[in-house]
Amino acid sequence: MALTITDECINCDVCEPECPNDAISMGESIYEIEPSRCTECVGHFDEPQCVQICPVACIPIHPDFVEDNASLWAKYRRLQAEAGKPVSDAAPQA
Ligand code: SF4
Ligand code: SF4
Repeated sequence: MALTITDECINCDVCEPECPNDAISMGESIYEIEPSRCTECVGHFDEPQCVQICPVACIPIHPDFVEDNASLWAKYRRLQAEAGKPVSDAAPQA
């Protein structure tokens, strides 16, 4: 799944630098997550880093971007390739 930021966001700025995919940026009034860049941290970390660090727990799953693990791994590989970065050999989890 991609994640999304709700209007409970207090613009504390801590999640943006933690995202390994550069998926988080400031929107018109609060921070936003670009779904095409969010892998739920698959390929980088065991847990979504933004969710771990957000002080107000305002980052749920985006209901319009429900993806299985294989899709998230494919997205991770695409993003790494686009950035010219190495791809982890770890296999997708079942
Ligand atoms: Fe970025 Fe990971 Fe949060 Fe998605 S779950 S926005 S990839 S930090
Ligand atoms: Fe908003 Fe949470 Fe990110 Fe802070 S960590 S900017 S409250 S989404």
